[in-house]
Amino acid sequence: MKKIYKKHNSFISLKGKYSEDYKDFLKKFNIILKTSSLDKFDSNEKKIITNIKNDISIDEKDNKDGLIKFQIKQNVIDEIKTIEDKDLLKYLIHRYRYEIFPQKKILDDYPPYLQIEPSSVCNYRCVFCFMTDNSFNKKSSGHMGHMKLELFKEIIDQIEGKIEFLSLASRGEPMICPQISEMLNYTVGKFLNLKINTNASLLNEKKIHAILAGGVKTLVISADAADKNLYKKFRVNGELEKVVRNLELFNNIKQNKYSKSKIITRVSGVKFSEDQKFDDMKKFWGGLVDQVAFVDYNPWENSYEKEKNDIIKPCSDLWRRMFIWWDGTTNPCDVDYKSKLSVGKFPDISINDLWNSNIYNNYRNFHLNKKRSTLSPCSSCSVV
Ligand code: SF4
Repeated sequence: MKKIYKKHNSFISLKGKYSEDYKDFLKKFNIILKTSSLDKFDSNEKKIITNIKNDISIDEKDNKDGLIKFQIKQNVIDEIKTIEDKDLLKYLIHRYRYEIFPQKKILDDYPPYLQIEPSSVCNYRCVFCFMTDNSFNKKSSGHMGHMKLELFKEIIDQIEGKIEFLSLASRGEPMICPQISEMLNYTVGKFLNLKINTNASLLNEKKIHAILAGGVKTLVISADAADKNLYKKFRVNGELEKVVRNLELFNNIKQNKYSKSKIITRVSGVKFSEDQKFDDMKKFWGGLVDQVAFVDYNPWENSYEKEKNDIIKPCSDLWRRMFIWWDGTTNPCDVDYKSKLSVGKFPDISINDLWNSNIYNNYRNFHLNKKRSTLSPCSSCSVV
């Protein structure tokens, strides 16, 4: 199998037509701007709304003049369709923080995006994943475990109203966490953009109900192939037929019990080999989900052994997202899956203090000063 590493971001939404959807969105945005009171927003948020008005754009080509534009892509439009009109400005403020703050290197009190890890354990051993690292995946490594519900609730209580974009996912399979359904129940009505990523092999009726009744806005199913043999080659221990059966069960329950649910379902694969064809993915998964995507392969499986590269551009993730793992260990990324860059532990340190800690700011300064090569694993990582 020939490995590739190049830009391969592909995305298709089967939910609508982009240019028409964008026109509708813009019309709605302008009406809401004209008719809403901005009193409920603080001065920082009002400033962001002004920037949104100036920077909003449909087209990537708008960036050619060197100015940073706030592009409203199809995936964003799809997300906007899941929220009420009264929440549109709030959603856009948080989307702007997610997209533009990392480009302009702006920091405020909370990360634009938080990833919470319900479990670091996984039932798969995907060939491109750090789960193949035997110094990581064993119980004796100290890295394996499930988050306790109490810790999860403490995180949620601290971020509600502060962070709107989050994922329940990081190093392991979230559905393996014994308390995942209770965790999902605790998120109901609290966030505008909550995702959960799963390989879908462990979905069952109880978990499906928790996803559909809970606060999840997007269910992301990790799958990279449209053929059972290719799937097995990448997703070791996985079975494509089982994933398909579970998705059919999900769709049946949704149709029969949650017909008004606006949840988005997406199959997202890692583009790892020339054998994977996006057209095949669209054909195979299109009848089961709303969106199909490929993301770039980053050699996660050997973060600490790869050769150093000569990248000097700062890593945008240092301004975009923060990770809290099952035991509260807080990290800037999961490329560093053994937490060599850990910035501290929650709840000993609060989320805004972790995000603005000296250690985190030191990493940012190293990157801004073209010294990422002095940090491991940043020195060999290709995220920019
Ligand atoms: S450069 Fe890579 S290893 Fe370093 S913080 Fe960014 S994602 Fe993590």
